[in-house]
Amino acid sequence: VCRASQDSSASTRSDELVVHGVSETVVGVLGGGQLGQMLCQSASEMAIKVIVLDPLVGCPASSIAHDHMVGSFDDSATVVEFAKRCGVLTVEIEHVDVSTMERLEQQGVDCQPKASTIRIIQDKYLQKVHFSRHGIPLPDFMQIDDLEGAKRAGDLFGYPLMIKSRRLAYDGRGNAVAKSEEELSSAVTSLGGFGRGLYVEKWAPFVKELAVIVVRGRDNAIVCYPVVETIHKESICHIVKAPAVVPWKIRQLASDVAHKAVSSLEGAGVFAVELFLTSDGQILLNEVAPRPHNSGHHTIESCYTSQYEQHLRAVLGLPLGDPSMKTPAAMMYNLLGEDEGDQGFHLAHQMIAKALTIPGANVHWYDKPEMRKQRKMGHVTIVGPSMGVVEARMNSMLVGRGYDDD
Ligand code: ATP
Ligand code: MG
Ligand code: MG
Repeated sequence: VCRASQDSSASTRSDELVVHGVSETVVGVLGGGQLGQMLCQSASEMAIKVIVLDPLVGCPASSIAHDHMVGSFDDSATVVEFAKRCGVLTVEIEHVDVSTMERLEQQGVDCQPKASTIRIIQDKYLQKVHFSRHGIPLPDFMQIDDLEGAKRAGDLFGYPLMIKSRRLAYDGRGNAVAKSEEELSSAVTSLGGFGRGLYVEKWAPFVKELAVIVVRGRDNAIVCYPVVETIHKESICHIVKAPAVVPWKIRQLASDVAHKAVSSLEGAGVFAVELFLTSDGQILLNEVAPRPHNSGHHTIESCYTSQYEQHLRAVLGLPLGDPSMKTPAAMMYNLLGEDEGDQGFHLAHQMIAKALTIPGANVHWYDKPEMRKQRKMGHVTIVGPSMGVVEARMNSMLVGRGYDDD
């Protein structure tokens, strides 16, 4: 980090680049959703310029980004145009045109993390192959091309059987469970058929889901955030508890697996490692995201350096920050659309009004132009002096709903 120069003559010297702030590199982000929005919020604190590429006019990041280029991050010519304006290119979504990123990288464009990492991760089947080759524990899996193959997988792995779309999955859209052989065909159809590219996973009989945010600097130094517990409802992240209330040994094992998984990937930035904890104390990897993640929203209020600031530091080659928690406990609750349109906005508004009365609660609203059922519209993070207190506060925010009543 260079000190801002007061001496105007210094800026004319050609032998040394004078940086007038934290960094003069423009960070280009493919995607402008809520993760992009929170990256921009963090960047604005350090006057780092972030520009985003997103097809949606009024996307969450648009109002706070240094600039929003309206266009598809999955369109080659658009990504090439966008890259011309960036000092470093990064992502807040993995479903981007990775072939173009690879080509740009060969031409000298600085992509962080590396395009090779995005390529592995954006195809969940390739991701599983990659991690199993690197000795990371994960549920058994198998590619399926037709109903016969699906039946063979069912015979081998048993039921329930998890069928997943290889690509373009998020919030469980792309997953279908077959409880028996009879359900295979309808599960496959619900995912758009075999043409979509499917694979199966053996059911992971988890007792908890855990996640670890791992950060990799440009010098390859790696730091891990405290292990959190994620609670999903119908495959959508619902609540995050930080830190996870599990034995010390389990936390250690989860961090080790996450560290090892990220070590096998190339490039700088924040990664999120989703894990299953089984009843016999095993940790299995579910998937990795090559970007800030829902399980790390809480870090904005609960950690010395948020995952968003950390991602910027990492891709810009700045020193990494302290990932440890500055509050003893935190819980994050996703504000999911409960209804379409105005009724949905009304219900969300009631929830926000309630949250604002809770001590330690912090409301985040993504300002998405359209409300839809089950869409992530915002979140609330509650911090406090202990997990017991934070849970009690969460319960009082959710009176009549209950976060663990199913
Ligand atoms: P995300 O929004 O995290 O990207 P996604 O659409 O990629 O989600 P997954 O992470 O593959 O979906 O799965 C979503 C959820 O479904 C998991 O968090 C877990 O609750 C459940 N799940 C996934 N795989 C399995 C499995 N093999 N066995 C049991 N449950 C599973
Ligand atoms: Mg996913
Ligand atoms: Mg997931």
